[in-house]
Amino acid sequence: MATIPGKSCGSCTMCCKVLVIDHFKKDAGILCQHCANKTGCTIYETRPDVCRDYECDWMMERSMGPLLRPDRTNVILQEDADSDEYQAVVDPSTPMAWRTNALVFKFLVSKAKEGRTVVAKSGLKSWRIFDNGQYAPWT
Ligand code: SF4
Ligand code: SF4
Repeated sequence: MATIPGKSCGSCTMCCKVLVIDHFKKDAGILCQHCANKTGCTIYETRPDVCRDYECDWMMERSMGPLLRPDRTNVILQEDADSDEYQAVVDPSTPMAWRTNALVFKFLVSKAKEGRTVVAKSGLKSWRIFDNGQYAPWT
């Protein structure tokens, strides 16, 4: 996949913490055993395909500015591979970050206005975000 100018993970390692990674039997919110705080992935050259293939939406969308990088918001924005949901996956240490960060919330509402099913998830909790700016628990 072509890299978008100005986009790089930099010091962000949010997907190595927040996402469930079956390959490592890793639950949401637990930092991968191979992630070093300052240097990132310690097995970068041999990391599994699930890691090689993953890019969050911030990496892929030219229009999403620097303030939406996941380590700045505690929210990973992504298409869900298993459904048609547009997801905000949130670090369980800040479960309401999808709502308290005004930029993230505005972005999620804009996705809902496009007709997407928008869902914020934090651990076992989830919420649906609607196009009128309202939200409700989602199962
Ligand atoms: S969450 Fe996105 S920006 Fe952060 S490390 Fe993962 S792919 Fe890179
Ligand atoms: S193996 Fe590397 S890239 Fe994959 S989750 Fe662990 S630290 Fe992140």
